Amino acid sequence: ATFLAVTSFLCTITHFQHMLVIANALPNDDLFALDVLSKLRTDHDSTMEASSDFGHIVQAIPNAVFYPTSPTDIAGLIKLSLSQPRPFTVAPRGRGHSARGQALAPGGVVVDMRSLAGRGGDHGHRVNVSSDESWVDAGGEQLWIDVLRATLERGGGLAPRVWTDYLRITVGGTLSNGGIGGQAFRHGPQISNVLELDVVAGTGEMLTCSPDKNADLFFAALGGLGQFGVITRARIALERAPKRVRWVRFAYSDARSFTRDQELLISRRDSEPGFDYIEGQVQLNRTLTEGRRSSSFFSASELDRLTNLAVETRSSAIYFMEGAMYYDDDDTAAFVDQRLAMISEDLSFVPGHAFVRDVSYVEFLDRVGRDEQKLRSAGVWDVPHPWLNLFVPRSRVLHFDAGVFKGVLKDARPVGPILMYPMNRDAWDDRTTTVTPPDDDDVFYAVGLLRSAVAAGDLERLERENAAVLEFCDRAGIACKQYLPHHDSQDGWKRHFGEKWGRVEAMKRKYDPRAILSPGQGIFPAAA
Ligand code: FAD
Repeated sequence: ATFLAVTSFLCTITHFQHMLVIANALPNDDLFALDVLSKLRTDHDSTMEASSDFGHIVQAIPNAVFYPTSPTDIAGLIKLSLSQPRPFTVAPRGRGHSARGQALAPGGVVVDMRSLAGRGGDHGHRVNVSSDESWVDAGGEQLWIDVLRATLERGGGLAPRVWTDYLRITVGGTLSNGGIGGQAFRHGPQISNVLELDVVAGTGEMLTCSPDKNADLFFAALGGLGQFGVITRARIALERAPKRVRWVRFAYSDARSFTRDQELLISRRDSEPGFDYIEGQVQLNRTLTEGRRSSSFFSASELDRLTNLAVETRSSAIYFMEGAMYYDDDDTAAFVDQRLAMISEDLSFVPGHAFVRDVSYVEFLDRVGRDEQKLRSAGVWDVPHPWLNLFVPRSRVLHFDAGVFKGVLKDARPVGPILMYPMNRDAWDDRTTTVTPPDDDDVFYAVGLLRSAVAAGDLERLERENAAVLEFCDRAGIACKQYLPHHDSQDGWKRHFGEKWGRVEAMKRKYDPRAILSPGQGIFPAAA
């Protein structure tokens, strides 16, 4: 307690001194800068809230938190930083759903993007659908669930085409990474579905960009890990929203059939019949035999059948391919069932192990929101999350399966879902900053080890397992790329970006030359 009190006291002094430095730098009549200062808070509650994230692995206290009410405020903050002899760093924070401090600003200023949405949660005014209903303009601070709610109210129900599994993350935060999910095989990641952006660059300029205007900034900011500017508006393509979803899972006891079927289905993206969404999961044996026995999809008796399957087939992992077909009403439901029956004939899942649910479109998209409620009530949401997300080349995915699921993680204790699903490379735009594996393969897999450290010692163990997975890929020459990446050194980042590194450096020099933005990514040291 004494240590905490002393730390907190020292922090307050630091904050106070910092504010003085800022205030002293201002000419007395600079009302604009004073307005910026009035939106900075240095109190304990504000700075503590902005000092950690979903990962609960890294903690870093900012000197202040900024609560903008308009993009102009953010430009003002950045100009204020640049006017200092030693600029302070600035990190936009969507909702802090990063795992390794990416939205933190140690000793700098965190921009609480929520405050752009207005007081009292009035989100509506920053989500606007075009009159021809082909796109929506959404504030960078908006949660995807709010974008969904707003677009569903228009034109008999509209929606963006590609969704992340979880919708309580922000437009600006996901577009700074990529935004992947089960619809990406058809439409590409979320960054392939953006038409225009408003960005406040690290120079303080407010720029509108698109493939035709300030194109270098547009592509740099998409997947740009917050390095070039703060996204304050994104124009996102829309489609007509379906009303209902047939949501299915097929079980497999071997990786070869599982991946073959997934790849077959993602190849049917332009023609009927096919799925509108395809993902997949790997359940390590111990997850079935010892893991938490609750699932938002499977009933207890279905879980028993899956456990028996694992035991009978003696496979160290069971795989589920997950698909969704959209439809609207009873008439189209019959058509969807026919399609499903037809497709099932082409697949080689374990006979009798197809599981079908019928849910509304919103229930389907917001499924992880329901899991969140359950995990919160069980007290296991706010725990460390040493997540590791990888893009694995298709040509090496069975090798990866053998080395990781049946090797490194063979006896791993069950601590969270493992996602595994393929995407078509040509739906990605190589001009964006997000990095994918080398392009010898036209398909690559997203593999997400989404694990939670719930018991003492879990975090260290999971970190060791993550390191072993990366080491295995290195040794086996599997050219994986991290998604939602984290690297400890600039050399690591150079390897990560590979051929894109030169462009990343050039864009940084042009749009954030003092390296003040999103320091928590640890890519560029802040300029002295
Ligand atoms: P933050 O964590 O706050 O920020 C992320 C980075 O972007 C930081 O560097 C920050 O400084 C920067 N940033 C934030 N806002 C802006 C902005 N407006 N302009 C520029 N830079 C900005 N991702 C997927 O792709 N697919 C999934 O299915 C998926 N599922 C998830 C499920 C859960 C439960 C969680 C917790 C995360 C999931 N994610 C998924 C990851 C998610 O995309 C990232 O956490 C992402 O960072 C978004 O979170 P956020 O909006 O809170 O951003």
